[in-house]
Amino acid sequence: MKSRNKLTEEQIRPKKLKKINEDKNRIDLNFLLKRKNRFVKVSCPACQSKSYKNYLKKNHLSYLICIKCNTYYVSPRPSVKLLEEFYKQSKVYKFFNDYIFPKTEKIRSKKISMPRLKNIIKLSKKFQLKKPSLMEVGPGYGTFCNLAKKSKYFSSVEAVEPTPEGAENCRKKNIKVYQQPIEKLNTKKQYDIIVNFEVIEHLFWPKNFLVSMHKFLKKNGFIILTCPNGMGFDVQLLRDKSDTIDHEHLNYFNTSSIKKLFNKCGFKVIETFTPGQLDVDIVRNKVLEKKFSLKDYPFYEDIIINNYEVKGLEFQKFLTRNNLSSNMWVIAQKKS
Ligand SMILES: [Zn+2]
Repeated sequence: MKSRNKLTEEQIRPKKLKKINEDKNRIDLNFLLKRKNRFVKVSCPACQSKSYKNYLKKNHLSYLICIKCNTYYVSPRPSVKLLEEFYKQSKVYKFFNDYIFPKTEKIRSKKISMPRLKNIIKLSKKFQLKKPSLMEVGPGYGTFCNLAKKSKYFSSVEAVEPTPEGAENCRKKNIKVYQQPIEKLNTKKQYDIIVNFEVIEHLFWPKNFLVSMHKFLKKNGFIILTCPNGMGFDVQLLRDKSDTIDHEHLNYFNTSSIKKLFNKCGFKVIETFTPGQLDVDIVRNKVLEKKFSLKDYPFYEDIIINNYEVKGLEFQKFLTRNNLSSNMWVIAQKKS
């Protein structure tokens, strides 16, 4: 049965806008490729191992897979400085900010930010936090921060956002914002909860990012973050045809490798889970758009195309329940 409340890819990434976005994406990619002489080799961003195998190539970028923890990652990758320049001029970011976010904010707020907020409130009740202070790193359009503030559940809601547009979005919504990267943030303030959604996969140094957040957390404070699960269903099946695998995403952790990284940075991981609902929809859309074929996978073709209404939606629930979806949550607590 098709549920009326189901989140679909179309709602948050309308096809019409997606096409324009693809053109902007190519311009962004070319900006990086023209500067490949400023790319730097790195070891595994989760466990720091130097043992890898070649995983795939896409758009002239090399994705390696760590033999020890199955994290895959772009290496060589744009340097920290080049990434900063890249995001400042990004056509995609401007397009999201000017069109996609304003056009889809209502639905994103209801279907993405609100469930996130409810989940975070539920977790803080579970951990008996009373009127916790909250900081979001990388608030984008400020939709989540705004909802969190309006909920009146938190003693304060603040944001850290290095880009001028993102910071301005927060100011417009009356959210206190520090306009700099968290790695350079200079405040004595500490928070009960720091959240960030889809940020860590973009970063040159995920480890530095976690260490910085550690500094701004109170004793026993929590990090709650979301990111792609590199071992998730649609990414694993579509591989180089997956939109998740792109030049912006440098790190593809999985539920076990991200734990290793957190442990190294002074955290105890309380929980990882994959509440993603879009895997089946994403693969289905790729097939319907003729960008991917399931001809060699009759098992999946039966579930995802021929019997979508009956089996596809059930299959998605199975993926979500068993930590096999490609969108992941991590809840971690500061150890010391
Ligand atoms: Zn590794």
